[in-house]
Formats: sequence, structure tokens, C-alpha cells
Amino acid sequence: MRIAADTVFVCGGAVQTPALLRRSGITAAVGDSLRLHPTLKLVARFPEIVNAADMGVPVHQVKEFAPRISLGCSISSPPYLALGLIDHPAARRTVAHDWPHLANYYATITGEGRGSVRTLPGRRDPWVRYRLTAADRHDLADGLRRLGEAMFAAGATELYPALPGGPVLRDPHDLQHLPKVFPAGAGGLMTIHLFSSCPMGERRDTCATDSFGRVFGHPGLRVSDASLLCGAPGVNPQGTIMALARRNVLHFLGQL
Ligand SMILES: Cc1cc2nc3c(=O)[nH]c(=O)nc-3n(C[C@H](O)[C@H](O)[C@H](O)COP(=O)(O)OP(=O)(O)OC[C@H]3O[C@@H](n4cnc5c(N)ncnc54)[C@H](O)[C@@H]3O)c2cc1C
Repeated sequence: MRIAADTVFVCGGAVQTPALLRRSGITAAVGDSLRLHPTLKLVARFPEIVNAADMGVPVHQVKEFAPRISLGCSISSPPYLALGLIDHPAARRTVAHDWPHLANYYATITGEGRGSVRTLPGRRDPWVRYRLTAADRHDLADGLRRLGEAMFAAGATELYPALPGGPVLRDPHDLQHLPKVFPAGAGGLMTIHLFSSCPMGERRDTCATDSFGRVFGHPGLRVSDASLLCGAPGVNPQGTIMALARRNVLHFLGQL
């Protein structure tokens, strides 16, 4: 089936949008500059009850070290706690009973590394790569240590960092057992914030779209998602992404 349209908005997110464009032969500055917020997590155990079935995602963050490092609490329902304890099997077995005393916390960094999104013949999923810089690996270790300090100051009795073979921390002195620099290639790293794989701007050598999301050289084709962000913002991105989408749609409608 063939569908014709004067204008197409591509909004598949920072991985799928560049993959779709590249599969369509549109490759200039597409998928070359993926940015993200690399994140490390730990599970903390408290003597008092800190978790509830309807807790949702707590919205408070520690921004004292921002934009380099942000600390916060993330979704802590029992399945997510079990996932967070994947490197600590003995503690994982306590989740079903102890979950009200446990919660997931994170240290996330702005990240100065870069990655790419590519498509491979015969493979449905795109190939995503990202390289941490030395500063990123330092900030990740620093963030995890500061997160541990905050947890002990808040009364935590045990910390389980998401590091393969990582130690269980029971005392602020145990924080010295954490790596001083996040080891290259170590597991435990995650992210939920990805951007910049089709950056917008007026420089055709580095940008996939103009400042309003119009793909260079392809009239009628627009990008409208996290791919447009020009870098890692260092804050939760959803508000910015929605504001940009609204601005670009108003521009499209001639109402800006
Ligand atoms: C678990 C989690 C928690 C988060 N919490 C927060 C938060 O608290 N605050 C915050 O600011 N941000 C948060 N984020 C980040 C935020 O959700 C993203 O930055 C934002 O949603 C990105 O918007 P987007 O439009 O680029 O992509 P998305 O919201 O991912 O939208 C892309 C859409 O395209 C669809 N799609 C992809 N490929 C195709 C295809 N080929 N065909 C059809 N459809 C396709 C996908 O199914 C999806 O619906 C969180 C993310 C995750 C994963």
C-alpha cells in the first residue's frame, strides 16, 4: 500500500527516528550524534517503611551537583526492585517480604560522550553505540558515591549498587569500596533519556533538520521528537521535547 501526504512528521524517538530515516536513504547528519544521560542505580534498605503500593515515581531530585550529576528516586514497585537487585541475588530473594523497606535510587550524569544509530542489512533492530568519556566515567563513580552518602545520611542501613560483583554497603566507610572511576565496559549502566540523533539547527554539516525540524533536502518531511535536541540537557527532558514539538507544529500551521 502507498500513502501520499504533503507533510510527514516522524516522531519515533531518538533511536527509531534516525533508523527510519537511514533506512529511507536519508543519512546526512542522521544518527551520528546520539547523546544520553548515563545512569547508575542502587537499591537502599531502610529500617522504616519508605515504599507504598501506590508510590508511583517520586519527583524530587538532588540538584546540588547539577548539571554534572543529579540524584533521585525512581519507580520502586517489587518487580523494579527485583530488577535493581539483579547483581545481589540474596537481597533479591527478600523483595517479596521486605519491599516496603526498599527503594530504587539513581545517580545520572549529563554525559559528554557520543553515540550513533545505524541500521544493518537483515536486522530489524538498529545498532546503537555510545562511548563514555573519561570525564563521564569519573562523574558516574562520583555520582554513585554521593548518592550513597545521601542514602546513609537519610538513615539507610544497606545499599546494593547495580554493579556486577559490587559490594553491599552497610556503613559510610564502605563507600570507599566503590570504584573511583566507573570501569570501561562494566555492566550496570542504564539510561531512559536519549537525544540528539537528528539535531536541529542551521549548520547543514552537523544538523539533520533546520531549526523547526524540517529535514534538509526533503521538503514536507519533519522530525518532532527527542532526536532534535542539540545536546544532553542535564534535566528531565520530556517538558523540553513537548515544548519543541508544540513550537514546531505552530510554525507548521503558520501560527508562530
Ligand atoms: C521508564 C521511563 C521513565 C521516564 N521518566 C521520565 C520523567 O520522569 N521525566 C522526563 O522528563 N522524562 C522521562 N522519561 C524520558 C521521556 O519519556 C522521553 O525523553 C520522551 O518520551 C521522549 O519523547 P519522544 O517523543 O522522543 O519519544 P517517545 O516518547 O519514545 O515516542 C516515540 C513513539 O514512537 C513509537 N514508534 C517508534 N518506532 C515506530 C515505528 N517504526 N512505527 C510506529 N511507531 C513507532 C514508539 O512506540 C513511541 O510511542 C522516561 C523514560 C522512560 C523510558
